[in-house]
Parts: sequence; structure tokens; C-alpha cells
Amino acid sequence: MNSYIKKSVLAMQGYTPGEQPTDLRVIKLNTNESPYPPSPAVRKALQNLKIDTLRLYPDPVNLALRRKIAELHGGGPDNVFVGNGSDETLALCSRAFVEDDGAIGYFDPSYSLYPVLAQIRAVTARPIALGPDFEWTMSADYQASLFFMTTPNAPTGIQYSKTEIRAFCARFPGVVVLDEAYVDFAREHCMDLALEYANVLVLRTLSKSYALAGLRLGYVVGAAPLIEALFKIKDSYNVDRITQATALAALSDQAYMQSLVERIKATRRRTIADLERMGFRVFPSESNFLWVKPPRIPAADLYRRLREQNILVRYFTGPRTQDYLRITIGTDEQMQALVKAIQGI
Ligand SMILES: *Cc1c(COP(=O)(O)O)cnc(C)c1O
Repeated sequence: MNSYIKKSVLAMQGYTPGEQPTDLRVIKLNTNESPYPPSPAVRKALQNLKIDTLRLYPDPVNLALRRKIAELHGGGPDNVFVGNGSDETLALCSRAFVEDDGAIGYFDPSYSLYPVLAQIRAVTARPIALGPDFEWTMSADYQASLFFMTTPNAPTGIQYSKTEIRAFCARFPGVVVLDEAYVDFAREHCMDLALEYANVLVLRTLSKSYALAGLRLGYVVGAAPLIEALFKIKDSYNVDRITQATALAALSDQAYMQSLVERIKATRRRTIADLERMGFRVFPSESNFLWVKPPRIPAADLYRRLREQNILVRYFTGPRTQDYLRITIGTDEQMQALVKAIQGI
């Protein structure tokens, strides 16, 4: 027994990220990255970056980025916090809004980082089991200090009704973080709730729709007092100069991001049709991935056999998720290769 380490840390497992193979021939449909490159404006911003400026610390409060984000979503820079990936901002929320005897809530299944954040804080996790078809369930008296809600949800791709989300935000006693990592692929968003309610934060990331998972930039919009709390506890320089410059370029090219989203949505439609033709159950997706149940073959077996053919999809063990696969939408060519491989199997 190693007595140097905190008991709660010894006891926890840690977050398991999706596999990142070094072999570039692998068709990688397992971590919801974009199959397309980021905006050409990002390349230009990198080329224009004066290497000499890397001597200097970056802007600790990310003002240029926050102004840009406020311009996109409404509110002002005081309503915006910028983090080293949205994962950092989720961790900061778990530190800022939960007392040591408090509780963190989330739907099960949803983003598998949330229970890990509760374990890191050594606070109570209070998950809510989704319904048999992964639909919204919630008892009227449910309480926690902080609720993380992925919408559209991951790994299911299902979006909850905005009416239900709004009613929940209005009655929930703690802070609600609406994790909209995939919302650019959905029909509607809840950004207005962040500017309307004192207890609601909306989280976005450049990792999915902007094709910049390698950059690490996420942001939060919400009421100024919540944003100020996050500022107090962040690392002094949490977003580096290179990321500040390139993220600003990416956010300034909305047309490019929208064009990527349209391509992925078109491929999504075609892939759903192909998989349904083969007898898969495909859940309605408002994201850049599909949640599917294969016919005639256990999901774990299909996952393994695809892997043997260098096609990586995501498989989650556990009673709620073991019969399903999560498949990221890649290019049309990648999805055709997937469909062909499944037919062979
Ligand atoms: C991908 C993802 C994130 C992480 O975003 P980063 O900005 O890459 O840290 C957050 N929440 C959900 C639900 C995600 O799927």
C-alpha cells in the first residue's frame, strides 16, 4: 500500500481516452474527431505568428478570444471563460461549484469524464439512469450541487428537448453545465439559456466541428459571477499564445466551420441509410457520430473484427452500453470502407 498517495486517488481508475493509433492507415472512427483539416485561416495564423513573441507570457485573460466569442453568441467578454480544451473548464466547474459535502450529477450514460471529475474531487456522484431508449428521465425532486448535461448527448447522439432543459434549469438548485460539444451538428442550441439564467453555463469546444482537437480550446458562456469564479481558480496562463492566435482565426471563419458541418451531416444521412439497410438499429443522431446496435452479432465481436481490419470504432463495456457501438462520421470514403467491411463480416 503506497501511503504517499491520497486514498481517494489510489481508489480511482482515471479517465480512459479513446485509442490513438500511430499507424496512419487506420480508419479512425473512435474519438469523434473531424476527418477534415481545420480552416486555412488557422495555417495563415500560424505562419504569421512571430516566433520571437514566444519569449513572452500569453494574455492571461484571453481577451481577444473572449471578445470574439461574445460577438458570436451575445453577452460581453465578462460572460466568457476560455480554457485549455473544454475538459479543463469541466474540471474547473467541479472545483468552483461543489462544496466538499456536495454532489455532482449527470445522465448515465453520458460523457465518461464526469464520474472521474467527481472522484477527483472525492464528492458524491449522483447519476440519473436514462430511459430504456436513452431518453430523458428525471424525478421532480432530484438535487445536486452541479449537473453536467451533454446535449446532444454522447455516446448516444440524442438531443433532449429544449423545453425540458429549460424547465430543469429553472428549478435545479445548483449550477447546470450544458455541454454542447456537438451542438453545431444539431438542429438547435441552448446558448440563450446561459445568458438568461444565473445558474446555467453553456460549454463549447473547437475539437469537433472546428476540426481542432489537437489544439485544445474550449469555452464557457454564462452569468458574470460564475465566469469570475472560474477565473479565480484557473492556472495563471491556461491558454498558450499559439492556441490564442489560431483559435481566434478558426472562430473568425464561421463559413468554413459550417461547410464542414454540412459535409458531415450529408455523410451522416448516407451512413444511417446504409446501416439501416443492413438491419442495424441507428439512434437519431444530432452529432458527428452514430449510436448503433448491430443485428445478429454482438457489438463487442463486431468491434474486434473491425479492429482486425484496421477500422477503429468505440466500444464501451458496462450494462447500459455493451450492446452498442459508437461510430464517428468520417469522410464518405471512410464510411464506405466501414460499410463494406461490415458486409464482409
Ligand atoms: C469531446 C468532448 C469534450 C471535450 O472537448 P475538449 O475541448 O477536446 O476537451 C467535452 N464534452 C464532451 C461531451 C465531448 O464529447
